[in-house]
Amino acid sequence: MLRVAVPSPLRRAFDYLPSNAPGAVLPLPGMRVVVPFGRGERVGMVVAHVDHTHVPRQRLKRLSRVLDGEPLLDAQSLAFLRWASDYFHHPIGDVVLGTLPAALRAGKPLPAAGESRWRLTESGLAVASEQFRRAPRQAAVWELLRRRPDGASRLDLASLEGDWRSALTAMAAKGWTEEFQTRVGAIVQQAAGEASLIPSDEQLHAIETVYAARDGFQSFVLDGVTGSGKTEVYLALIERTIALGRQAMVLIPEIGLTPQIVERLRDRLSVPMAVLHSGLSDGERLQAWTAARDGRAAVVVGTRSAVFAPLARPGLFVVDEEHDASFKQQEGFRYSARDLTIVRARQCGVPVLLGSATPSLESLNNVASGRYQGLRLSRRAQGALVPQVEVLDLRGQPFEEGISQKLANAMVRCLAEDEQVLLFVNRRGYAPILICHGCGWQADCSRCDAHMVYHRASERLRCHHCAAERAVPEVCPECGEGDLRALGLGTQRVVDALAERFPDARIERVDRDSTRRKGALQRVLDGIHSGDINILVGTQMLAKGHHFPNVTLVGILDADGGLFGADFRAAERMAQLLVQVAGRAGRGQHPGRVLIQTHHPDHPLLRVLVREGYRHFGEAALTERQQAALPPFSCLALLRAEAPQRDRAMEFLEEARACAVRLGDRSVQALGPVPAPMERRAGRFRAQLLLQSDERGPLHGLLMPWLEELETLKSGRRVRWSLDVDPQEML
Ligand code: ADP
Ligand code: ZN
Ligand code: ZN
Repeated sequence: MLRVAVPSPLRRAFDYLPSNAPGAVLPLPGMRVVVPFGRGERVGMVVAHVDHTHVPRQRLKRLSRVLDGEPLLDAQSLAFLRWASDYFHHPIGDVVLGTLPAALRAGKPLPAAGESRWRLTESGLAVASEQFRRAPRQAAVWELLRRRPDGASRLDLASLEGDWRSALTAMAAKGWTEEFQTRVGAIVQQAAGEASLIPSDEQLHAIETVYAARDGFQSFVLDGVTGSGKTEVYLALIERTIALGRQAMVLIPEIGLTPQIVERLRDRLSVPMAVLHSGLSDGERLQAWTAARDGRAAVVVGTRSAVFAPLARPGLFVVDEEHDASFKQQEGFRYSARDLTIVRARQCGVPVLLGSATPSLESLNNVASGRYQGLRLSRRAQGALVPQVEVLDLRGQPFEEGISQKLANAMVRCLAEDEQVLLFVNRRGYAPILICHGCGWQADCSRCDAHMVYHRASERLRCHHCAAERAVPEVCPECGEGDLRALGLGTQRVVDALAERFPDARIERVDRDSTRRKGALQRVLDGIHSGDINILVGTQMLAKGHHFPNVTLVGILDADGGLFGADFRAAERMAQLLVQVAGRAGRGQHPGRVLIQTHHPDHPLLRVLVREGYRHFGEAALTERQQAALPPFSCLALLRAEAPQRDRAMEFLEEARACAVRLGDRSVQALGPVPAPMERRAGRFRAQLLLQSDERGPLHGLLMPWLEELETLKSGRRVRWSLDVDPQEML
């Protein structure tokens, strides 16, 4: 019999008999099949051949057809997906089919290995680069094609920013480019891109250490301040991996925000590269996935879901900015791509490198315990100085629209030197609270336990937790008076205030609102690099991966939110954000200065962070975690439930708790149920039950039988519930 993974909410695979049609072949594991399911048919994938089944013989159905002539996924990839499904307790059918490109999920054939390529014609080669001054996209395509005498594939082109297709069409119309077909197998050749830099001693040590471990599994943490040359270490290792005829996979937090790394990889390594992220069309994703699978792509770069792309000859895994929360998927299949990368590297028997200026406490602890090997880059490359960090005590200080006199003075000096300022604000919109000065009424979301944020540009109130939006009332709906006041700071308000204070400065904002339109972020980044922008105001989007060489002053307007967050990871996240934002400053010739405004200058973790740095902060925070028996010193699984009625969610979780207590041994504690920190969201009441254990074994042994019981509970059918293994957010 065949065990088949079929997309369904059920946490199991389904057994089928092979087809008895004449000439039918027995499909191997990893091949897609069409099976009868319910009243219709579905595309599934064979995951195993089995001798026993719990399905009574007469109810066993036969496969309808086999879709593949060879396995789409090899045994190793299948084993990896099965591991992920088991560990995170997500249905195997969803995991196996859900991680395939849409066309394959729908049963379309795997595209043939031949492909279209593009190259410059004689006249294209003769074009002078000045001709592209007004056509940056064409310039990028031209630059790329110039470096690819053998032609560039769709994969190569798709790694460019923006609309390469219309640029290429325009160039073809002028006779500068031509398309041709190749039939390719593995076209991995020795990289011959731009010359690499001479590594520093620390870089060389990191490169040699990881390279020496190339034939087996080993986890490394590359801990280096921003600008210390981590990316150079990745590049050198990737080059060597390719030279061994193996593939490298690089995971990055958000590809939309970090086109730089893709560009650097492409400039340095003149090899086919597959880029996988959510901004691709279905066709582009299929191409990239296929190229990873058949080995045509020497390097696979992508966001979290790329960890599931099959590789023909895996040789190295890299997770850049490994501390970043976006490696955890927060809904549906709740997996951690960072943790899965480690598992995958172990299965493949190759090294994995986790890089960050602010490693997660989990990784720091793994280094401390010797499970991972730590590698350090302690200095900035090219001798750039590490910025000087100061805490500004806000208590009793003159303070206007979020900016203290000291910060304002520093800004004046910086702008006078023609250098740039970066201000970090943790909220978008104009102000987080709109309140009536007459009666105290506040604009709250009717569906969430949250204030609506005042957006001044559009004169709207918006809830940042659900899609709710409404016009700003003219008068207070409660008392009828007109004295409505905006309290607190958002990015828009800071920009407005600065515009009055610095009328000659050009000020730009970077947050989710301002970058919604395609190309908007790139335009601001270009403005920063060209020096047109003097002051940049933004949210945590600014903390990710950008280089701002002429920024010499960074102001953090309010560090206090992170110090007292509801989540036990709040302090860690705040520290990472502060260090990352700070790391954007002073990468050029000028040293940077970072000013952190706070009403709590004596907060112990903030003090350690500022005085002794992230490393010591990490040690102090780990001690606190250990005393509180929190991860990484314990394991957690969070059962969440939500329902339109408050009691239903709690009732289900109470029953779930009773089940857990009955099934588990005493080493697993059930904490709760309690209402979620934000109890009502989008009209639903939310509650949670936390399972905690010092050891992974007892907790994970409990989860499967527990889930099986939960699925039979009647109270569970009236709520929406989900299990989050190793939750990253407790909200
Ligand atoms: P990180 O990834 O740690 O932020 P990068 O690898 O981006 O650091 O390096 C920061 C800057 O320093 C880049 O412009 C890079 O080209 C340069 N750089 C890195 N290593 C060296 C080196 N060994 N020699 C000269 N320049 C270097
Ligand atoms: Zn009022
Ligand atoms: Zn809401």
